[in-house]
Parts: sequence; C-alpha cells; structure tokens
Amino acid sequence: MRFFDPRSDDPESALTFDKMPPDEFKRRREILGLSRKQMASVLGVSTETVYSWEHGRRNITNPTAILMRRLHVCCECHHVCDDCEAMPPYGYVCEGCRHRFFERRFTRETTDSQL
Ligand SMILES: [Zn+2]
Ligand SMILES: [Zn+2]
Repeated sequence: MRFFDPRSDDPESALTFDKMPPDEFKRRREILGLSRKQMASVLGVSTETVYSWEHGRRNITNPTAILMRRLHVCCECHHVCDDCEAMPPYGYVCEGCRHRFFERRFTRETTDSQL
C-alpha cells in the first residue's frame, strides 16, 4: 500500500485518481503558511516539483492530492500535520493536543465569566 507516498508519480495513478488543480494546491499551501521549499520538504519532493505543480506543468495526482487535503495547522501546537480534527470555530487540533485544547478553552471560559 503506497497510498500516502507523495513521491509516487507513476502514470497509472494519474489515470486512476482525481487530480488537484494547481490553484487549489497553491491556496492550501498558503493557508498552511509554508513556503514552496517548506511544502516540498513536508511532501518529500523537490522545490522544483512544487513549482511545477503550482504552474500546471505537472499534474498533482494522488497520493499528493489526498495528503494536501488532509494537512492542517493545529491551533494548539501550530505545526502542520495530517491527523488534525476540525474544532469549529477554533480551527484544527491534533489528536495529541486535544486534551490541552479543551483544558485551555475551559479555563478561559471560566475566567471570562468571572470578570
Ligand atoms: Zn497540535
Ligand atoms: Zn494535528
């Protein structure tokens, strides 16, 4: 199973899977607050590859597309990771940060109501 290997770029998966439009890739990278170089290192590809994807010179196929849609910035630890869960209206929180997240919200709300 090489579903989450972003380096895979074989033509067969390009036919089988959906593609991500270049502007969606760029928008997601900017939301993550990563430079092209940082994005490349997260995905395990070269900066040139990221550049080619954003300029439509190379198709963004799965598993890169899947991974890009899973990546979020945790509102607790501010790291980019792929196991975050949406916690509206705060954003996304990691599994490992969830305890701290709830503790902090609870403490803040208690303090606010006492003011
Ligand atoms: Zn976190
Ligand atoms: Zn996370």
